Amino acid sequence: MDFAWTEEQRELRSSLLNFIEAEIKPNLTGWYRDEVIPRELFAKMAERQLLGYREVNGRWIEAPTLDQIIVAEALAEVSPGIAVGLLAHAGLGLYALHRFGSGEQKEKYFLPGVKGQQISAFANTEPTAGSDVANIRLMARPVSGGYLLNGTKMFITNGTLADFLIVSAVTDPQAGRKHEAISLFVVESEGLKRRKIRKRVWTPSDLATLFFEDFFVPQDGLIGELNQGFRLIMRTFTSSRIGLAALAIGTALGAYRLALARANSREAFGKKLLDHEAKAFEFASALSRIEAARLLTRKAAWLKDTGQDYTLAASMAKFYACEEAKAIAFFAAEVFGASGIIEDNPIYKFPLDAWASALGEGTGDIQKLVISRELRKRLEAAGSQFEI
Ligand SMILES: Cc1cc2nc3c(=O)[nH]c(=O)nc-3n(C[C@H](O)[C@H](O)[C@H](O)COP(=O)(O)OP(=O)(O)OC[C@H]3O[C@@H](n4cnc5c(N)ncnc54)[C@H](O)[C@@H]3O)c2cc1C
Repeated sequence: MDFAWTEEQRELRSSLLNFIEAEIKPNLTGWYRDEVIPRELFAKMAERQLLGYREVNGRWIEAPTLDQIIVAEALAEVSPGIAVGLLAHAGLGLYALHRFGSGEQKEKYFLPGVKGQQISAFANTEPTAGSDVANIRLMARPVSGGYLLNGTKMFITNGTLADFLIVSAVTDPQAGRKHEAISLFVVESEGLKRRKIRKRVWTPSDLATLFFEDFFVPQDGLIGELNQGFRLIMRTFTSSRIGLAALAIGTALGAYRLALARANSREAFGKKLLDHEAKAFEFASALSRIEAARLLTRKAAWLKDTGQDYTLAASMAKFYACEEAKAIAFFAAEVFGASGIIEDNPIYKFPLDAWASALGEGTGDIQKLVISRELRKRLEAAGSQFEI
């Protein structure tokens, strides 16, 4: 077992940190004020091959997940909102196209996407279906040359920014099982009615409601096979849960570092906060939990990169990292006392962003649902002495 980063991973992290210092940190105030991630940021990240894909001999391949989590964690330390905008594009929209799209779809959408010239979103959630992914109602009715989409998608990251979107829709309303009723489409956003959702989490990422009203999608917009979309959605979410776990860890770490600096300078009762044993112990506990979440996430990434089943590991990582991020970000904010609530204080955003990370890509309850299903599978296959 080797826990050390490779030379390439060290280089990746160091070039990323330089990029964050030069291109992100100086602009954060403006982006948070305007609540927008500028499109150029996607292109700049793409130029440096920081979107999770690499061109090798003219072919685009997915970068190792271990590399992708380095990027998600480091970005989230500074801005979980920016990290989520990039993850929704690269880890959801581009991932679905790269894994399941046709050659033509890759040419037309994945290529401009991976170069950061176009931005994507992944739209499954609806006003009446979130955790229950298969319960969507947006209908795709076959018409000459394609489909007409009718329905509403809600809480879609990059929703108003996106040039194209991966959209789930019911294509077989008569199917006995809802899971066999759904297909996945790639849809251009031109002409789509979209409304930005005002929110207080994951600033400056973009969140929107999308209104499909007799919205035409040509036949070649279908991703994979008809009525097989549910499986593709779940495979996409299983993968993106690892990125979200890393984002939650970055959120916890960002808050932790700010609080540590504060506790090491602020005095109360004649000594630094950090010199009060009760506080030092809280910092010790939080650091241990951050590291535990990191190890779970790295294991999930390693399982994925080595072609093994990572469903259980991804859900455990996502669940644990988000629970800890919520607790640690809140603890870190409290270290600031009253000054933590001032809007200009960067600590302010972390508890809210940690909360958001526990919602996206399946809540804690949904992760526990997946974990308990995986547990049952192992129990049935090998009894209670199953290997873990
Ligand atoms: C900032 C943000 C960005 C998002 N971005 C996207 C995006 O890009 N694309 C997209 O498609 N969606 C996106 N979402 C939606 C997100 O995936 C859903 O909010 C999430 O899946 C939960 O669904 P819901 O909000 O409908 O809650 P519900 O499903 O209504 O759940 C409500 C509560 O009930 C619990 N619950 C539900 N089912 C069970 C169960 N079986 N057992 C126990 N408890 C249960 C949940 O854990 C939760 O606490 C985003 C959400 C947020 C907040």
